Amino acid sequence: MSGTDAPMTPAAAAAAAPDSAAAPAAAAAPAAGGDRLETAAEHATAGRLLVAAGRALVAAGLSPGSSGNVSVRVGDRLLMTGTGTQLGDLALDDLSVLDLAGAHLGGPAPSKEVALHLAMYAKDSSHTAVVHVHSPSAVALSCLEPWSAHSAVPPLTPYSLMRVGQVPLLPFVAPGDPAMGALVSESPLPFRAALLSNHGAVVSGEDLDRAVQSTIELEEACRIALLTQGAARRLIAPEQVRAITDAWGMPWTGPADEGGASSGVGAAGSAAGADSAAAGAGAAGAGGSGPLPGEDAAN
Ligand SMILES: [Zn+2]
Repeated sequence: MSGTDAPMTPAAAAAAAPDSAAAPAAAAAPAAGGDRLETAAEHATAGRLLVAAGRALVAAGLSPGSSGNVSVRVGDRLLMTGTGTQLGDLALDDLSVLDLAGAHLGGPAPSKEVALHLAMYAKDSSHTAVVHVHSPSAVALSCLEPWSAHSAVPPLTPYSLMRVGQVPLLPFVAPGDPAMGALVSESPLPFRAALLSNHGAVVSGEDLDRAVQSTIELEEACRIALLTQGAARRLIAPEQVRAITDAWGMPWTGPADEGGASSGVGAAGSAAGADSAAAGAGAAGAGGSGPLPGEDAAN
């Protein structure tokens, strides 16, 4: 058998995992009020996926120290990594059980980022997994002025466009501050991934595997953005960005390719960049008011 240290997608790990009788505490929690009683087997499966997701994120280098937290929704319950747990060394009984309002139903105390996770689920009811990481490149990019008001990550390669689309930069609040949830829920922008200023990234997905893979892709996109920062970089043309995100069903509301009049969303939080190369990009993304010199001349 492959070693447990090998990178493994959650799906693969679930398939490989022995059927354990030890269901997470979720299984014991009564599904009060729900018209769908979750079975112990469903919770056990979700728990194993979550444990595997933690290992996959660590294997990909996205969880320095004990940082990061992951949750998965099973019906009207959330399984979430407990506070202080290490993503690479999770056990089923490290998982907290919550309802969709955030009430703690069982297991250890949940991660302090409950509000962030709940807000991501509320933003898209079809999503059943949320990943929050302090991965190095995402953190670094979250410390820079955003490329535009609708996305901190410029369209440099297709892959993050296919996986997550636009990635807005949300304002800074202290880690664990419930206000982080409000930043997500009150953002006028559609997104399935965001950078949290001076902090990290949050990503949701239809299932845990997609959320993990998207998080890995986002980290790579952030790394590429950093590597090319300050250079005369060529962005993917707006019409191609639109075609890719449409084809993959990813959000992209970039005003730069939709005319200046549509830039109300973008104008709000624009940070015309502090660094010289990004300054033009920030202005173009936010204002959409015609070609600018430099990398955004593609418009
Ligand atoms: Zn954090």
